[in-house]
Amino acid sequence: MTIDYHELYVGGGWSRPASNAIIPVISPTTEERIGSVPEGTEADVDSAVAAARAAFDDPSGWATWESARRGDVLRTFADELQSRAEETAQRVSSQNGMPITVARQFEGGFPSLVLRYYSELVAAQRDDIRPGMIGGSTVVTKTPVGVVGAIVPWNVPQAITFLKIAPALAAGCTVVLKPAPETVLDAFLMAEAASAAGLPPGVLNVVPGGREVGAHLVGHPGVDKISFTGSTTAGRDIARTCGELLRPVTLELGGKSAAVVLDDARLSENLESFFAATLLNNGQICWLGTRVLAPRSRYAEIVDTITALAKGVVVGDPLSEKTQMGPLVSERQRNRVEGYIEKGRSDGGRLTTGGGRPADRGWFVEPTVFADVDPGHTIAREEIFGPVLSVIPYADEAEAVAIANYSDYGLGGSVWTSDPERGARFARRIATGTVGVNGYVNDPTAPFGGIKSSGMGRELGPEGLSGYQYSKSIYLDVR
Ligand code: NAD
Repeated sequence: MTIDYHELYVGGGWSRPASNAIIPVISPTTEERIGSVPEGTEADVDSAVAAARAAFDDPSGWATWESARRGDVLRTFADELQSRAEETAQRVSSQNGMPITVARQFEGGFPSLVLRYYSELVAAQRDDIRPGMIGGSTVVTKTPVGVVGAIVPWNVPQAITFLKIAPALAAGCTVVLKPAPETVLDAFLMAEAASAAGLPPGVLNVVPGGREVGAHLVGHPGVDKISFTGSTTAGRDIARTCGELLRPVTLELGGKSAAVVLDDARLSENLESFFAATLLNNGQICWLGTRVLAPRSRYAEIVDTITALAKGVVVGDPLSEKTQMGPLVSERQRNRVEGYIEKGRSDGGRLTTGGGRPADRGWFVEPTVFADVDPGHTIAREEIFGPVLSVIPYADEAEAVAIANYSDYGLGGSVWTSDPERGARFARRIATGTVGVNGYVNDPTAPFGGIKSSGMGRELGPEGLSGYQYSKSIYLDVR
């Protein structure tokens, strides 16, 4: 049975799209068609932006409501999402190969958690009244930025969607969401939850499509802010458009993070956390520590530990409870990853495990480890977005810091040590937006984001909310 939609969620209801084109959804596990949705066009983006604009500009609408009233609707939305959590997880796994146990956590559970978090955060906000230094006083208030264009990738589609739409909606913004063509069935289920929750017309609109539809949204005159997660290449294009328009933009882009194993680490006691920080979601997460830095004093032993970990990974059907690694999202992505494996070999990396295809059907790649990788090798510099680790030797802490920071990117990272205080001190020396000690978990209360080619701006925490509000000063008693 396939899941097929024929209408788009725009303006608070389901309506006919402007064209008959469809986006087919193909399972990366079976290579069979599992569903379809209408393909949004520029005309559909125009309708969605018009609906979002009208909802935002309504003088008694969403943006003007007390935050508690918006919070009531958003909590109902969270309930509706929660009641669809298992189906959401199943749809994501079926579309992008994410192991179901991971999907339940990231895609089923996280969206409603973040929605509730931001509803409460906004409800607790108060105007700041500041006595002036040169007479009078000032009310500093937070104002929603307006219509938000949110563009998301396929790798963790629902969690990333809610990093954007939860703070945006809680702040009083209205949203046009453009999901990636690879993961649309989860976005339509989310739209069903929004509809069931009674979000007012136009507050949230979903237009799936590819790059052109995304670019049209980015430059649309009716949009006030863009929030984008995806590749650095697309991020640069979007930044150019937003720069020209002086349109605020949040960019969460690629990464090539370091997992630094210090000489006192007891890695074999932490293998589950280490796997999560380096190979989770089939290697398709932006913050994964795919450059493993190991001290020369323990290099052979650490290479052996990581090789054994990769060899033991259960690869298979992402819908099976036992699976730790599913297929890559698409044939194109598998070809890209295999190209990097070839490059790793020809550059002189020592393959210790993997490198091949574990199955005849589906876009699988074996968990792969290269040892003796030079920090300058292509596989140590470029984002692969697949299950490929490079183990790089270092002599001392100073060299470990230098190698960790020798990257165009600056998103994540981790430090592995039996002394957490030493780990926290080391973490401060890594030039990235986030670092974990003996693990890596994005907490909703803490800002997440990158520096350098990993992007600009922050999501999550109060910092994530500030991207959807501007401060307005109202000077009082001025004489
Ligand atoms: P991608 O940039 O090709 O596509 C991402 C989204 O942007 C899709 O919806 C796509 O249709 C759209 N898009 C592409 N080009 C566009 C353009 N010029 N204008 C407007 N929209 C455009 O990325 P992808 O291959 O789908 O996703 C993988 C990338 O995303 C990786 O580089 C990964 O690191 C990055 N990512 C980053 C984070 C983060 O938080 N930093 C999180 C997840 C993924």
